[in-house]
Amino acid sequence: MIQDSSVCGLDERLASWAGAGIGNKVISRDDARTIIGDASIPLLPLIHTAGLVRRHFYGDRVQVHVLNNVQNGACPEDCGYCGQAKTSDAPIQAYTLKPRDEIISEAQRAKDAGAFRYCMVLSGTGPSDADIEHMSACIREVKERFGLETCLSSGILDEAKAQQLKEAGLDRLNHNLNTSRDHYTEICTTHTYQDRVDTLNAARGAGLSLCTGLIVGMGESHEDLLDVAFELRAVRAESIPVNLLIPIPGAKITDPVCEGQALTPEFCLRVLCMMRLANPDSEVRIAAGREHHLRSMQALALEPCSSLFVDGYLLTKGAAPIETLHLIRDAGFELDFRGSTPPPLVREAWEEMHSNTAGAQIDGTATELSVFKSDKLSAKKVEKLASK
Ligand code: SF4
Repeated sequence: MIQDSSVCGLDERLASWAGAGIGNKVISRDDARTIIGDASIPLLPLIHTAGLVRRHFYGDRVQVHVLNNVQNGACPEDCGYCGQAKTSDAPIQAYTLKPRDEIISEAQRAKDAGAFRYCMVLSGTGPSDADIEHMSACIREVKERFGLETCLSSGILDEAKAQQLKEAGLDRLNHNLNTSRDHYTEICTTHTYQDRVDTLNAARGAGLSLCTGLIVGMGESHEDLLDVAFELRAVRAESIPVNLLIPIPGAKITDPVCEGQALTPEFCLRVLCMMRLANPDSEVRIAAGREHHLRSMQALALEPCSSLFVDGYLLTKGAAPIETLHLIRDAGFELDFRGSTPPPLVREAWEEMHSNTAGAQIDGTATELSVFKSDKLSAKKVEKLASK
């Protein structure tokens, strides 16, 4: 934890945050509070600062993720943000766990859309033994045939089940903390925040990487956002999806507000910057709600965030994949294939977009742009700050 920088001038303050982040040190809670709540910290320099940290760890690469809702609805839980909850009367299409063939053919589609990781999501409190068997078989096949990284979101589970999934080849378990411990009873009464923490610990115990994030705009306070930001650091989440509440008609929570204020693009970007600076080396993702809440400012989210979803979210559609590829390219970023061969669909679209850009590469070997090439802070200066 670095020292509170509130006594410094703006330039020094931003430089100290960048330097701390590059050294994988966390900003103080007071600084995090300032970032989301104090308009005297101008937005664009703040985004640039978060971008310095993101580029230090992830260069100019963006990972794209595709979600697959492999089981939908009929959930006995009452999560207020969710259209699948027992308390929701959202008109959703409920279905039981998809058959293996369907999950595999959708993995093929994810591969063709350029996905780096295939994320499968089950509704419900937690998986039965039969669900674990079924998903283990699917995970094995997805890994063998497509080489995609796999992530599963399956609710509450214990270490024995987590271990079984790990042995099948699962890379990562998703289980969002969603909000702070204090605010949790406002969004859900059928399970506890501690149940969520226990599931993360079980996954970690089994050797799985953790994907766990939050939903901004569920009536929480700024302090709640800070609580969850630092809790995510405490569990050393490798991946942090930051969702911006998409109001689902029929769900219990449909008014996207934080600290009594409606979400704005500026506020959402401030939260993303705070999440980056509180979790410098994590893969912070702009997840559900980016189109709805960031609107014309979406590209700016690629500075604090190193990944996003293509092709929509659990119950709602997002931008078309090609639009998201344009967004990434137009902002000067590269797709991250991690050395794998990109599928023809993505290769062609990406090459066409780059036809006037000398030197663009898509084969996973793209040269990282210099992090500091046009920055006021020189590489030397940031290195010096990071070593403090
Ligand atoms: S978030 Fe998951 S556990 Fe909660 S109601 Fe929705 S499907 Fe059920």
